[in-house]
Amino acid sequence: MHTFKSQFPAPTGATGYDTLIVGAGFAGSVIAERLASQAGQRVLVVDKRPHIGGNAHDRHDDAGLLVHPYGPHIFHTNSAEVFGYLSQFTEWRPYQHRVLASVDGQLLPMPINLDTVNRLYGLSLSSFEMDDFLARVAERVDGVRTSEDVVVSRVGRDLYTKFFRGYTRKQWGLDPSELDASVTARVPTRTSRDDRYFTDTHQAMPLHGYTRMFERMLAHPNIHVMTGTDYRDIVHLLPWKHMVYTGPIDTFFDHHHGQLPYRSLAFEHVTVQPPAGQATVQPVGTVNHPNDHLYTRVTEFKHLTGQRHEATSLVYEYSRSQGDPYYPVPRAENTQLYRRYEADAEALSDVTFVGRLASYKYYNMDQVVAQSLATFKRMVQP
Ligand code: FAD
Ligand code: UDP
Repeated sequence: MHTFKSQFPAPTGATGYDTLIVGAGFAGSVIAERLASQAGQRVLVVDKRPHIGGNAHDRHDDAGLLVHPYGPHIFHTNSAEVFGYLSQFTEWRPYQHRVLASVDGQLLPMPINLDTVNRLYGLSLSSFEMDDFLARVAERVDGVRTSEDVVVSRVGRDLYTKFFRGYTRKQWGLDPSELDASVTARVPTRTSRDDRYFTDTHQAMPLHGYTRMFERMLAHPNIHVMTGTDYRDIVHLLPWKHMVYTGPIDTFFDHHHGQLPYRSLAFEHVTVQPPAGQATVQPVGTVNHPNDHLYTRVTEFKHLTGQRHEATSLVYEYSRSQGDPYYPVPRAENTQLYRRYEADAEALSDVTFVGRLASYKYYNMDQVVAQSLATFKRMVQP
C-alpha cells in the first residue's frame, strides 16, 4: 500500500526543483552532482546537520588540525570507476592505513599476520609454518553463519578471544555469535608480513580533505544546498518532483514496522603536544583496544592527513546503542525487518532510497559512491 505519497506536494512547474535530496553525504552529493551536471536537473540538497559531507565530513579543530568529527574515514577502493569519478573533485594523498591492536601488553599488527602470531606467542614461524599453525588451531565449523564462526574457523579460539571477541562485544553490544559472518569477515587473516589494513588498488585521502571535495561536487549552479534543515520542515513548502532519501529508512516511514537498530558512537576528541622531537604520539594511524579500556580504538589524524603541525589530534571511539545512527547492525532479524521497509520503499514511485542508512547496509564510502552512480543511471533511464 502506498500510504506515504500523499504527505508530499504534487509535482509543480518550472519554478520548483526537479529533485529534493535528503542528506548531503556521499549518497546525496553524488546523486545531486550527477543529476545537475548530466541530466540538467535543478536539485535541492537538504541536510539536518549544519554542514555537508555526512559522516565523512572533516574540519579544522581549534588548534588548526584537520579532524574527522564522526570518526576516522580512510578511502580505499578496487573500483577504477569510483576512484575516477571522485578524482574529478579532488587530488589525492596516497595513504596506506596501519592498525595495531593492544593485546597482552603488546601492540600487535591487525589484521592478524605472521608477525602478530610470532610476537604474541614468542615464535619464529615462516609463512608456510603459519599455514600449518592455523590449520592446527582453527576450529571446524560446519556452515559458517556468525561472526564467531568466521574467526574461530580461521584462527582458532585463542586469537579469536584476544583480538575479536572483546572488541566486537564493545562495538556492537552483541557477542560475535549474534552477528552475521559478514561483520568480522571484513578483517582478513594473513600468513604474510603485510601489515596494511586494506589491500585495495586505490588507497588515498582527499588531498585537501573530504569537505573540500564535497564542496566541489556540490558547486554546480543548478544545485542548492540547505544545511541545518530537517527535510520534514520544508517538504511541504517547496515544490519538487522526485525525492532521493539517504537517511535511516525506518525513520522515513515513522518506524511503522518497528525500529531498526542502528549502532551509534560517542567521539572524544583530544589535542595534545607530542613529546619533544616527535610529530605524533601513536606509531600508526589507529590503535585498537579489544580488551582494555571502554573505547574500541584511538586514531591519530596526522597519520591519515599528513598534516604538519606542532600539536596532534586524536579521537577515542565509544560505542552506544542510542544516538546518531552510524552502523546498521547486520543480523538476520534486522535484515528481515529491513525487508519490510524495503518493500514499502519500492512501492513509492516518487522517492528513491540510497546510501548506508537508507539501504541498511554496512557500506564503505566507495560502495555508497558505486551504489549512487548506479542509482543515478537507473533514475535517468528513459
Ligand atoms: P551519511 O554520511 O550518513 O549521510 C546521510 C545524511 O543524511 C546525514 O548527513 C544526515 O544528517 C542526513 N539526514 C538524515 N535524516 C535527515 C533528515 N530528516 N533531514 C535532513 N537530513 C537528514 N567508510 C570507508 O570507506 N572508510 C572508512 O574508513 C570509514 N570509516 C568509518 C568510520 C565510522 C565511525 C563510521 C560511522 C563510518 C565509516 N565509514 C567508512 C562508512 C562511511 O561513513 C559511509 O559509507 C558513508 O559516509 C555513507 O554515506 P551516506 O551518504 O550513505 O550516509
Ligand atoms: N574487529 C574486531 N577486532 C578488531 C577489529 C575489528 O573484533 O581489532 C571486528 C569488529 O566486530 C568490527 C568488525 O571486525 O566491528 C569490522 O571491523 P572494521 O575495522 O572494518 O570496522 P569499522 O572500521 O567499520 O568500524
